Amino acid sequence: MASYDTVVLGGRIVLPGRGPVRADVGIKDGRIAAIGEGFSSGEADEAIDAEGNLVLPGAVDAHYHLGIYRDITEDAKSETPSSLAGGVTSIISYFRTGSHYLEKSGPYSEIFPEVLEATQGHSYVDYGYHLAPMARDQVGEIERLVGEDGVASFKYYMFYKGMDLAGGSSDAAGYTMSENYDLGHLFEIMEQVARVQASRHDGSRVSLSIHCEQPELIRIFKERVQEEGILQGLEAYSASRPTLTEHLAVAEVGVLAGHTRCPVNLLHLSSEEAFEAALELKRQHPALDARLETTLHHLALTYETYNDQRGKVNPPIRAQSDVDALWRGVLRGEIDWVCSDHACCSEENKEGDLWQALPGFGGTALIYPFMLTEGLRRGLSLERVVDLVATNPARAYGLASRKGAITVGADADLAIVDLEETHPVTTERLLSAQDYTPFEGMELAGWPTRTLLRGQTVFADGESTGSPTGTYLKRPLTEARPLSTP
Ligand SMILES: [Zn+2]
Repeated sequence: MASYDTVVLGGRIVLPGRGPVRADVGIKDGRIAAIGEGFSSGEADEAIDAEGNLVLPGAVDAHYHLGIYRDITEDAKSETPSSLAGGVTSIISYFRTGSHYLEKSGPYSEIFPEVLEATQGHSYVDYGYHLAPMARDQVGEIERLVGEDGVASFKYYMFYKGMDLAGGSSDAAGYTMSENYDLGHLFEIMEQVARVQASRHDGSRVSLSIHCEQPELIRIFKERVQEEGILQGLEAYSASRPTLTEHLAVAEVGVLAGHTRCPVNLLHLSSEEAFEAALELKRQHPALDARLETTLHHLALTYETYNDQRGKVNPPIRAQSDVDALWRGVLRGEIDWVCSDHACCSEENKEGDLWQALPGFGGTALIYPFMLTEGLRRGLSLERVVDLVATNPARAYGLASRKGAITVGADADLAIVDLEETHPVTTERLLSAQDYTPFEGMELAGWPTRTLLRGQTVFADGESTGSPTGTYLKRPLTEARPLSTP
């Protein structure tokens, strides 16, 4: 009997905290059973030749929106293959009640099983969910969601407080379908998350993710931009939600998280000012567990080079100086992870008036290609790229025992990547249902030639090859299952 189910031979493997090492990987029962030298194809049922390629842990795309504008099942079917194309093998998707998604409200005890049911059997990657308590009753569900349902992270959207004030078409109650979506509500969520976190003794992390933009300021800046009517496209959009609105929102979070000691994730920082505010928050509250996130698009796009309203997203695409400041934060290790904030949003949803176009777009397929191209060009090492897209988000969100690093016992989630070949970004290459991409034409290296999920090849030669075998990640994942020695 063969020792392994699969061996990956001759690749340069990026191990945790180390540069690439030439080694082989033995896979058994979906897990990494051994890492070493001199394995042979005779030792396994299947041998994968990785000669000349990098072998990286499957990326963990920690910010995703399955089902925001389309049916959850359809999104799972069409968008998770896009993740595989970028070497992503785990996603954590945001879900909330209210407008979009399922267009309804109610207790998560009823709605979350529906969400899981809609995803089950349709995802090509492993997936978890972050949930946003929108209504007051849902705050009371946090403890059970953590303890029983494996939801270890929650979300609050600072700018929904004034969806009516900010000039949205619907009033706040209509959009969030809740009573008082304001700082009082945020405070109660933080108290609960902090309390549940403090009661856990297994070292696992329960946290609150925050979308930081301040709605009362958006209201007046948007009004000014519309009245002046000078700026166009994404530049107008950025001016309507200027970086000051992120700064103030981060400062508000600092006061409340400092008081409640709630572990927080400051999501998709888009600007120098937001990033500086986040650093200031950390300086003022050194004991607070605060982690910083940015996205591919905030590291890649500016309204100076891409002023097309299809790139409308919250927070907005900013200026080159903001992109450079975020890269400085990434290079210094001050920004903890990079994600896609993937939301399949068709061209149709972006037509007409800038203000009516729906925010968001996809990018999950570019996680490794973009970070390996632009990151390495800017001086990141390979192991730091891996930290940013795999290891750090896995640690922050309760996946580290099985995901985010190539170690014996972990799930055999691997991205085998060719650093030599470059290809321009095209809509087709991304395998998403979205019919355009704001990244169109970027010349990128580091495209996966093959992606493995728990030992199975699920993407190869530009196509998704398997069936939707993704499983729900009930967090925190327990320790790697013990291995039988091969
Ligand atoms: Zn998002």
